[in-house]
Amino acid sequence: MPVEEDRREALEALREQAQTCVRCPQLAAARHTVVFGAGNPNADLMFIGEAPGASEDELGLPFVGRSGKLLDRLLGEIGLEREDVFIQNVLCCRPPGNRDPLPAEIDNCQSWLMEKIRLVEPRVICTLGNFATKLLRGEPVGITRLHGQAEVREVGGRVVRLYPLFHPAAALYTPSNVELLRADVARIPALLALDPPAQPGLADPDPAPVPETAAADELVATGQLGLF
Ligand code: URA
Repeated sequence: MPVEEDRREALEALREQAQTCVRCPQLAAARHTVVFGAGNPNADLMFIGEAPGASEDELGLPFVGRSGKLLDRLLGEIGLEREDVFIQNVLCCRPPGNRDPLPAEIDNCQSWLMEKIRLVEPRVICTLGNFATKLLRGEPVGITRLHGQAEVREVGGRVVRLYPLFHPAAALYTPSNVELLRADVARIPALLALDPPAQPGLADPDPAPVPETAAADELVATGQLGLF
């Protein structure tokens, strides 16, 4: 496990590399900034959104527009600030006109995303909306069915508690979803209070870890945690 300062430096080095990425020529040509992600390099809690919008592209930071304000408010309600978490997106570059990310773009950006997960080593990852949830679960099941249900999954070589949430932008679009999102966010402190999930190949610090869901139990029991 990297020590805190090493982790910060490694993330900075990765950020530098990402600045010149041209794997998606259309996105690279249109962007103002590469929105690498921001927050605490040592965070236990990570959020993964979809892609930068116009404000994020302008400022080079994730979730600085209306959705970000909602995210900040909900974080505040559970006693957290941006500085306590790490926030990134499936895509580091803004899709023109805020169109959906294309499969090839998601593929191109995936190694940046996974490397950030490997470096930060979060215990809980909240996927915001369908794109992040489907990518990290490696399955097409949508957010309406999955939101608010934590499961233990391997992501980028690390076992985490994955916690799908509605995307704040979708919640803003459908006001009743704001309350669903708020209720789901309210469960994050309880997830963070659980013992960290056992990592493959490491001695188990707790001899009797209890995954939250039967599905997670099954995955752990059968060793089928790999996604990618
Ligand atoms: N929506 C996202 O998914 N990410 C951002 O950074 C902003 C809006």
